[in-house]
Amino acid sequence: MKKEIKIIVDTLIKTYPDARCELLYETPFQLLIATVLSAQTTDKKVNEVTEKLFKTHGDLNSFLTLTEEELREKIKVIGLYKTKSKNIMNLCKILKEKFNGEVPKERDLLITLPGVGRKTANVVISNCFGVQAFAVDVHVFRVSNRIGLAKANTPEKTELELMKNIDENLWTICHHTIIFHGRRCCTSRNPKCEECTIKSYCNYYKNKHL
Ligand code: SF4
Repeated sequence: MKKEIKIIVDTLIKTYPDARCELLYETPFQLLIATVLSAQTTDKKVNEVTEKLFKTHGDLNSFLTLTEEELREKIKVIGLYKTKSKNIMNLCKILKEKFNGEVPKERDLLITLPGVGRKTANVVISNCFGVQAFAVDVHVFRVSNRIGLAKANTPEKTELELMKNIDENLWTICHHTIIFHGRRCCTSRNPKCEECTIKSYCNYYKNKHL
């Protein structure tokens, strides 16, 4: 890992010692559902819904007692709720029929499930199964390219560059700290550059101030 990247990563880890997944969950199944629900929606909104939903429907078997219409009703305050209800009900059926009721631990199997892309699979395997992974969401994409940890124009290429530039044992913690930084400091509009702990190393800041 290059010296400058190591300084950025170390500083972000020190700045956000409590960085972690902000979705509420107790099991891999709950995190999988919460992450599918979180597409194009805030974690806060998802948590408001799942806090109630998981009290009555916290596992696969209880989800399988729901109809798609009943699930729609329970998640209707979340964006894209019709598509998400359909995907989740199909996903539950496949988990039961093909995976013995268990959430698979492998990325390649997870991405075969409806509504589950590489980002969702990476969230599940890194948080639940101890696999080092970068889940590139809008925050990770924006922040890592602004700083210069990656120089890429798609989430997929950004993930590959982050994996190349950062030591593997730091991928998951780095992913959490970059998301925390994106939500709290390096926001999409008006990033708080003057109070940023890594501004001296950030390409966006250097380009603006040199
Ligand atoms: S200096 Fe500004 S653009 Fe760079 S990481 Fe910090 S907040 Fe983001």
